[in-house]
Amino acid sequence: SLAAADIASTMHPNTNLRQHERTGPLVIERGEGIRVYDDRGKEYIEGLAGLWSVAVGFSEPRLAEAAYKQMLKLPYYHTFSSKSHEPSIRLAEKLVEMTPANINRAFFTSSGSEANDTIVKMAWYMNNALGRPNKKKFLSRIKGYHGITVASGSLTGLPINHRDFDLPVIPVHHLTCPHFYRFGAEGEDEAAFTARLLVELETVIATEGADTIAAFIGEPLMAAGGVLPPPAGYWEGVERICRANDILIVSDEVICGFGRLGTPFGCQKFGFTPDIMTLSKQITSSYMPFAAVMFSDAIYQAIADNSEKIGAFGHGFTASGHPVASAVALENLAIIEERDLMGNAARLEAQFQAGLRSFADHPLVGEARGTGLIGAVELVANKQTRKPFEKIGKAGAIASTIGHEEGLIFRAIGDQLALCPPLIITSDEVDEIMVRMGRTLDRLT
Ligand code: PLP
Repeated sequence: SLAAADIASTMHPNTNLRQHERTGPLVIERGEGIRVYDDRGKEYIEGLAGLWSVAVGFSEPRLAEAAYKQMLKLPYYHTFSSKSHEPSIRLAEKLVEMTPANINRAFFTSSGSEANDTIVKMAWYMNNALGRPNKKKFLSRIKGYHGITVASGSLTGLPINHRDFDLPVIPVHHLTCPHFYRFGAEGEDEAAFTARLLVELETVIATEGADTIAAFIGEPLMAAGGVLPPPAGYWEGVERICRANDILIVSDEVICGFGRLGTPFGCQKFGFTPDIMTLSKQITSSYMPFAAVMFSDAIYQAIADNSEKIGAFGHGFTASGHPVASAVALENLAIIEERDLMGNAARLEAQFQAGLRSFADHPLVGEARGTGLIGAVELVANKQTRKPFEKIGKAGAIASTIGHEEGLIFRAIGDQLALCPPLIITSDEVDEIMVRMGRTLDRLT
């Protein structure tokens, strides 16, 4: 069977491999709209849009046609040494138009991890070019997720991505996670929590020296860490402090970008202006692997000068700006605009968030939270004390299995159950998700 072949021949990413050998894979065969179907024909609502990414839903024929047409015309060309092609040029132009006014350059990669590695190297290259060889450290946050390659994995602040991989290996300081429910101190209100986080940031900068810190990287709303919206005033404070200390601000928009939070980009939801943005996932609805580093002219000018001085900007990938992926991204963005999918997320935000919050009374739910069309419920052993379960992840795994039986796929991050449905979702479908989630939670008690 397919399942037996899977167990015999593959090693899955982000998976307990021995557990997988016992339980086998969930083999998904096809998808349509917000739904996928397994190899036995069972239907599921894909409540996480795959991996937070299928904005336009599954099996959108326009994306298949865009890929097919581009494959017939120019299936591959590279962008090294001044070579170029129309899909990549048009996409860069489109992304510059969509992103905030100070962002006016694009560099393409195939994954969010590669994009964040690129940002590390760009910052280092730029600071060497500017005669600031010590300005190399990164500031990140505990529970932040920025990928799994050697540099991006170092920026990530999740123990499971560091442990036994010998990460982090680049100079990075992980600041306190800005999640009030878990990291707020006894008796502290949200405003005092924000103030404490900002004092911590200022103290770290003062201790390490602003002249040693290249950039602050953060997801506007931490997603893979458990869907953790920041406390009020947090990003404004981070922006003020970074600006005062000449520290670049990187907004990792791999999940928050393209309308997920009800605004085109996550930085706009929380009112800050980054110098660099990482885009991926919803950029092609993950129909093709693709990512973009978007950045300001000041960064470009410093890098460009140095490339002439030493002969090249010696960084790039075989697939940087891949024509088929670029063509799919352009068509995907056209669909997002034509169908006003970002507006759809904004319009459905209240209903989706109210649906999630309705689970807050459940005896096992500690917190129900989210923004836009992303959210999570956190399961706890004790609602009053917020005590987590003895064996973290067990309740989440059981919930996942029940969810599958109820026809709902969400992501269990430990005991946090995350939802992030395709942006094409309708009001009736939001209700359907909440019914299936409600049944799942009821069966847990
Ligand atoms: N940054 C963020 C915010 C992410 O959520 C992810 C993946 O989930 C990445 C970076 C890494 O992207 P990829 O898995 O494409 O390498």
